[in-house]
Amino acid sequence: MPAGFETLAIHAGQEPDPRTGAVVPPIYQTSTYAQDAVGAPRLGYEYSRTANPTRDALQECLAALEDGRHGLAFASGLAAEDTLLRALCRPGDHVVIPDDAYGGTFRLFAKVAANWGLDFTPAHLSDLDAARAAVTPNTKIIWVETPTNPLLGIADIVGLAALARESGALLVVDNTFASPYLQQPLALGADVVVHSTTKYIGGHSDVVGGALVVRDGELAARLAFHQNAMGAVCGPFDAWLTLRGVKTLGVRMDRHCDNAERIAEYLVGHAAVASVLYPGLPEHPGHETAAKQMRRFGGMVSFRLSSEAAAIEVCNRAKLFVLGESLGGVESLIEHPGRMTHASVAGSALEVPGDLVRLSVGIESVDDLLADLEQALR
Ligand SMILES: *Cc1c(COP(=O)(O)O)cnc(C)c1O
Repeated sequence: MPAGFETLAIHAGQEPDPRTGAVVPPIYQTSTYAQDAVGAPRLGYEYSRTANPTRDALQECLAALEDGRHGLAFASGLAAEDTLLRALCRPGDHVVIPDDAYGGTFRLFAKVAANWGLDFTPAHLSDLDAARAAVTPNTKIIWVETPTNPLLGIADIVGLAALARESGALLVVDNTFASPYLQQPLALGADVVVHSTTKYIGGHSDVVGGALVVRDGELAARLAFHQNAMGAVCGPFDAWLTLRGVKTLGVRMDRHCDNAERIAEYLVGHAAVASVLYPGLPEHPGHETAAKQMRRFGGMVSFRLSSEAAAIEVCNRAKLFVLGESLGGVESLIEHPGRMTHASVAGSALEVPGDLVRLSVGIESVDDLLADLEQALR
């Protein structure tokens, strides 16, 4: 039966428990499973690193939401990324990454994977020619985020998927910022979707997790092998919290977008604000591409002030906007990327401007959010 997004978010992978009828999938907080006979694990469950019913429920739900066929849940977004890289790449291989990648992703490439011989090039992926120029004969992966963090750049997923195909590479899309409600990269030609489920998918700032979603069965088997062999799995309680959060993803995202649109408009009109980075604004360079590949424009808004001191001052003065890292929860957050989330890329090609402020716009009453920004910018 074909189903809409919100229906899948609530029901995919979450049939009532066959034994008790429990509507919510139980937390199978167990490491091992009694076997009916030697070599006959019941329903295939033998050990929870390999498989766990609560994790399976989450994996099935995420696969459905991304319009994929196979989901794999991990202990964090970076654990998912590490598993993906080690499953797909060998020493000497090359990856194209965004020149404004998530700081932790850049650190994984620059400080960890590079030590194992994985080569990478940061490129400005909103420009297809720049992406093409970065590809080498050894390129195994084109890795893209869209929208990007924290500069809210937009990359053309369809165009990059074509480039990946003609280069014999796979297109990996980190869909954390958009969430599957706003954008489904696999349907646009991507091979792998990466998530930090810590963000919008979990949505309540109470759990850290990550996921990979694919369509191809062979690729899924290779990833599942590495998920088990490397062991950075999502625990049962974390899987349960993430499933509880994801049920409301659609309604939350709509409110995140409503509030972010209002705030972006407000900031555009504010004299102290030098520029506003939000793909929903018609003057944003990626606006048309975003409108093609996204349902709406998301809950992240960045803006630039006159100086680094002004940006730090606004972050410190905000009250309702909590000063903190992370994003995608119901509560609004404010941060200074240069000194906080992106401090690890200072001095690299990915350094972000010091006058930049990033907002993760929550789902509070928008008038309260606007009033807080008003007092912080005064
Ligand atoms: C947070 C984040 C990650 C890393 O995920 P963790 O769950 O923190 O390990 C990766 N990509 C993006 C875009 C993120 O925002």
